[in-house]
Amino acid sequence: MDIAAAAVISSAGPHATEELAHSQNLDRGYLKEVKEKVRPLSYISLEISSEKPLVDFPGVVVVPEGRRQMTMMCTSLAYPEYAPPGKHLLQAWAAPDSSFLPLNTAAEVDMVVQDLRDAIPRFDREAEILHVSYWQKDWPMYRALPGALTQKTPIENLYNVGDGVAPLVPLGLPACAETARIVVEDIKQRVKPAA
Ligand SMILES: Cc1cc2nc3c(=O)[nH]c(=O)nc-3n(C[C@H](O)[C@H](O)[C@H](O)COP(=O)(O)OP(=O)(O)OC[C@H]3O[C@@H](n4cnc5c(N)ncnc54)[C@H](O)[C@@H]3O)c2cc1C
Repeated sequence: MDIAAAAVISSAGPHATEELAHSQNLDRGYLKEVKEKVRPLSYISLEISSEKPLVDFPGVVVVPEGRRQMTMMCTSLAYPEYAPPGKHLLQAWAAPDSSFLPLNTAAEVDMVVQDLRDAIPRFDREAEILHVSYWQKDWPMYRALPGALTQKTPIENLYNVGDGVAPLVPLGLPACAETARIVVEDIKQRVKPAA
């Protein structure tokens, strides 16, 4: 693909940027770094409905000492429209044992359900699991661990932004915004506006 521009910013992730820019245009050291360091993180998410709220706090609850690191929220206490009509919605999110091993999705989801049963004793009587999703590979939680790669590429003025090039802090969406801020600052210093 040919792009005539003073600077190009890609939010497609470092692997997709590499493909779009054609790997033969990028040096081997950088390609090795992308291959070794930009490894996606997995995540599991469950949507659960019930007649009454399964958790009575209208915010994110961290579940300590479970089989998996899990957070959950009775989303319908804050946003009733998220739930099926007349019902409540609990969302639970958990990280698997490892993102860097083949994901045994059935076993991982089972652990999360067991943690929900422990955290909510009336779970089996009152909960209906509506949807289970797991996020991995090309559809990950984050495209890379924070700090894996910088935003610059070996092609001058071709940048990556987003969670594949996140700094060490902050995490998640604030990290994506921070990568954009870093790139914009760099472009302002390096690229002169057209007269
Ligand atoms: C279930 C789940 C829950 C999460 N919860 C939170 C949370 O509570 N808080 C938080 O901060 N973060 C959360 N995250 C992480 C957060 O959503 C991501 O880190 C963030 O959305 C990444 O943004 P991005 O712009 O880097 O990538 P994306 O939002 O994935 O955007 C990349 C874009 O590039 C496009 N694209 C890809 N390939 C190409 C191509 N070849 N050509 C053109 N376009 C292309 C895609 O279509 C997409 O629009 C969660 C993620 C998941 C999966």
